[in-house]
Amino acid sequence: MDFDLTKEQKMIQKEVRHFAKTKIAPRSEELEETGEYPYDLLEEMAELGLMGIPFPEEYGGMGSDWVSMHICIEEISRADLTLGALLDVTTSVVGQEIFAFGTEEQKKKFLVPIAEGKKIGAFGLTEPDSGSDAGALLTTSVLEGDEWVLNGTKQFVTNIGLENASLVIAAALAKDSKGKEIVSTFIVPKDAPGFQLSTRYKKMAWKGSATHEVIFKDCRIPKENLLGHPDRGFAQHLAVLETGRISIGAVAVGCAQACLDESLRYAKGRKQFGRPIFDFQAVNFKLADMSVGIELARTAYLKAAWLKDQGRAHTFEAAVAKLYGSEMVEKVASDAVQIHGGYGYMEEYPVSRYYKGVKLLQIVEGTSEVQRMVLARLLRGKR
Ligand SMILES: Cc1cc2nc3c(=O)[nH]c(=O)nc-3n(C[C@H](O)[C@H](O)[C@H](O)COP(=O)(O)OP(=O)(O)OC[C@H]3O[C@@H](n4cnc5c(N)ncnc54)[C@H](O)[C@@H]3O)c2cc1C
Repeated sequence: MDFDLTKEQKMIQKEVRHFAKTKIAPRSEELEETGEYPYDLLEEMAELGLMGIPFPEEYGGMGSDWVSMHICIEEISRADLTLGALLDVTTSVVGQEIFAFGTEEQKKKFLVPIAEGKKIGAFGLTEPDSGSDAGALLTTSVLEGDEWVLNGTKQFVTNIGLENASLVIAAALAKDSKGKEIVSTFIVPKDAPGFQLSTRYKKMAWKGSATHEVIFKDCRIPKENLLGHPDRGFAQHLAVLETGRISIGAVAVGCAQACLDESLRYAKGRKQFGRPIFDFQAVNFKLADMSVGIELARTAYLKAAWLKDQGRAHTFEAAVAKLYGSEMVEKVASDAVQIHGGYGYMEEYPVSRYYKGVKLLQIVEGTSEVQRMVLARLLRGKR
């Protein structure tokens, strides 16, 4: 068994860590405060090739692997959660769905700009009445001549409000040749007729990721925008969400590491009762526990990503990485605020921002309860 990163993986980790620390981290507070998206940083991330790490060079990617992708997601999230999550949605989920199930033409047209970081992809699965029960979707699709006509509403669509967001991958009900109801997936360009963007949600954190409701009102897209097999739309979504779960695990680890970094710095500098608070066991045990959680969650997401690179099943490991990572970081962020005392509650201390931000990780891409349902199903014997 070899736990070492390869030479290439170490190199990309070093490069991205430096970029995140010097370019992103100093801007993170401002980004959350203003909700203004950092397009300049996005350009720099694109220049580093971050949006296309796991895709072949012919599709605008780096031709690297999913372990590298996730190491980078951790490093970016250590500096800013919103930008870490952008890599999750646009690369791990949307880019991958086009790469895995798209035609050659779709890959050239839609994946290349995403992998090159020129365009951002969004994911539209959740609907007003279909969240955890994602199969209960109501959006419909009908083929009329050479066009699909979509009607329905997709909720909480991350990043679709960004000016360089170009498309949403959306599932919709359809009918097969025998009239049986099936779920198909479509690539829906943002400029398609009938594509409507509702007002931007006001979120408690992650302010930079412009999240909107999307309404398809007789939304017309070309026939060839059907993605993958017509009756495998839901299965395709679930397959890529498995990778999304590994990515959320990596986002969680990045943020937890930032909490530990800040808490260590603070605990060593802050004096009470004539000594650094680090010297008090109640404080240094918290820090020790944080480091344990981070170590385990990091190992979990790396193992899941490694299995994916080997082409091996990783449903269990992806659910573990997401569930454990997201619950770990909530506790770590809470302890980080506690270690900072009253200052931890102040906005100028990053830990207050992390504390608000991490809750989302237990909700998106399958709540903690959904992850437990996945694990329980596997334990029942279907693994
Ligand atoms: C900021 C933000 C960004 C998002 N981005 C996207 C995106 O880009 N694309 C997208 O498609 N979706 C996105 N989502 C949606 C997200 O994935 C859903 O919110 C999530 O899947 C939960 O669905 P829901 O909100 O409808 O909650 P519900 O499904 O209504 O769940 C409510 C509660 O009930 C629990 N619950 C439900 N069913 C069960 C059960 N059978 N057993 C036990 N507990 C259960 C849930 O775990 C949860 O605690 C985003 C959400 C947010 C908040």
